[in-house]
Amino acid sequence: MADKKIEKYDVVVVGGGASGLVAGLFTSRRVLKTLIISQDIGGQAATTPEIENYPGYDKVDGLDLMKKFKSQAEKFGAQFKLETVESIESLPENRYRINANTFSAEAEAVILAFGLSHRHLNIPGEAEHVGKGVFYCAICDPKYYQDKKVVIVGGGSSAVQAALSISDLAKEVWIVNVTKALNAETILCQRLKESKKIKVILNATTKEIKGNDWVKNIVIVHKENNQEESLSYDCVFVEIGYVAKADWVKELVETDQRNQIKISPNCETNKPGIFAAGDITTIAFKQVVISAGEGAKAALQAHQYLLTKQGKRAGNIDWGKKK
Ligand SMILES: Cc1cc2nc3c(=O)[nH]c(=O)nc-3n(C[C@H](O)[C@H](O)[C@H](O)COP(=O)(O)OP(=O)(O)OC[C@H]3O[C@@H](n4cnc5c(N)ncnc54)[C@H](O)[C@@H]3O)c2cc1C
Repeated sequence: MADKKIEKYDVVVVGGGASGLVAGLFTSRRVLKTLIISQDIGGQAATTPEIENYPGYDKVDGLDLMKKFKSQAEKFGAQFKLETVESIESLPENRYRINANTFSAEAEAVILAFGLSHRHLNIPGEAEHVGKGVFYCAICDPKYYQDKKVVIVGGGSSAVQAALSISDLAKEVWIVNVTKALNAETILCQRLKESKKIKVILNATTKEIKGNDWVKNIVIVHKENNQEESLSYDCVFVEIGYVAKADWVKELVETDQRNQIKISPNCETNKPGIFAAGDITTIAFKQVVISAGEGAKAALQAHQYLLTKQGKRAGNIDWGKKK
């Protein structure tokens, strides 16, 4: 990697979900040379077929919305690379080297927008069967559940939304939830009640996932009587929420006890030139519209920071004036 030419950018955005895509749109519209490095395009929002609370749309497919965010950012010149960022090094004068799988880039400012990661069950058989019957995005690939008997582990909104989304195509859908009640939005629970295909097992822990090349059974334990039961399924979708995985930037920026990046109201971290936006930060509410807004804020703050760094006057109002 050392002898390869390292491309220089004004801004590198880590993450291509709602916050990262909007950050890239705003920095590139400010004519800042911008690279968005992300493992995928759209992040969490791209995994839901129905977003009903994004302003301007009665209902929109999350992936379609994220594709629109991406093409709008591209229109203003944002560049993309589909990779994982593994580390960020501090260079002199508050510049940064961003190391991805196969390349490195240098930037005057970095926007951390790498969102949340799927929470795992951490039970025997889970890791061995990832991609072989164990999945973390129920709607992403219908071929895995079409005409199949599937179980969704979890009881929050994402679990219920997943069950509803796949119930048209799957043969049978079961939800296994650890607590005595589901913890999903009321509107989703109402829809669940109306569904004839989805069955729910409450108050049961998932103990083990069994199979050889592909999942065959999951072992659950009914908490009421401590009875074990082995149920046969073709697929297990784990929908037990998301966690912040920011260990890899802990040396760089300050995080809280939940591993979220601490930010000022304007998306600044404690490190000059490093900004953060969206679900990975300490903002209270994790929603598409909020991540999008935070991405815009981080970008505008990064722009002001770069102007100040160059000794230029930084204004407060963004009416689209270019630097
Ligand atoms: C199933 C589901 C349904 C939802 N429904 C709604 C809804 O109806 N309405 C609503 O407002 N919100 C909804 N949400 C929440 C909403 O999707 C999120 O709050 C929002 O999309 C978060 O955006 P983000 O950009 O902050 O993070 P994310 O969407 O998590 O994006 C982070 C991005 O960073 C990438 N990344 C992570 N680590 C790295 C790395 N090291 N290197 C490079 N890239 C990396 C990821 O691949 C991803 O693309 C839903 C979420 C889920 C999971």
